[in-house]
Amino acid sequence: MKALLTIAILFIAGIAFGQDTAMVNLGDSSVQVLTRLYPAADSNGHKGIYFIHLHQDETTALQVAQSHLQSRYGMLVTLWQSGGRFIYFSVGGKTYMVDPNRIFSMAGARKNMSKLAYYNSAAGRQVKKLADTILNKLHKPRLVIAMHNNKDGKPLSTRNYIGRKMFRTHINKSMDSDDFVLTTERKVFNYLKAKNISVILELPGAGFDDGSLSAYCNRRKIPYINIEAQEGHAAEQAAMLQALDELIATYNQH
Ligand SMILES: [Zn+2]
Repeated sequence: MKALLTIAILFIAGIAFGQDTAMVNLGDSSVQVLTRLYPAADSNGHKGIYFIHLHQDETTALQVAQSHLQSRYGMLVTLWQSGGRFIYFSVGGKTYMVDPNRIFSMAGARKNMSKLAYYNSAAGRQVKKLADTILNKLHKPRLVIAMHNNKDGKPLSTRNYIGRKMFRTHINKSMDSDDFVLTTERKVFNYLKAKNISVILELPGAGFDDGSLSAYCNRRKIPYINIEAQEGHAAEQAAMLQALDELIATYNQH
């Protein structure tokens, strides 16, 4: 009884603070999909502006998003599991691994899981449950802002995109090549280019399907921005977000 009462109180407190936790069971394991509204009291205030943090080890990105949202509208979606980049789970005694930013299509998940460990359709179905839970949280999205961190140098920097057919780039050489914005919105690209901030445009209709959230949003014409910074570059990442502030607000006003 006491335990039930505690759960009820936590649940009510969660609503009051605009927080929600969805537990997704993957085989013998589980992942939590946490959502939090900013400001907590205004459940409709975010009007389809979503911030999403998929890689749990990218702690700078999460802190920057949380601190930015203290004075803005939005819903923050976060995953909670192993503490690392990948999601781990076991089905029938076998352990599977998947990058949570490769689960937004079955083809992408299959390719990624095969590369990391092992794939079969039963494990694929588990991963789809996680993807569906996350996508259900992004209700009527007007703008999705993904928050990511990378490591110094390889494997990811602005250099990955230069000269590629499906991308356009504007690079500010005085910025660290690990700090940049990637978007599917030409408007966002032009806006940041005018501010001389390093920005990559994933061309609308680029048509590739790697299971990433950018490819998913691109296919469905959901405006998407990824704020990418080297782990620890909190000031740089906050500055890129800040530079987009006025433009983000326009997505909230349709
Ligand atoms: Zn990431």
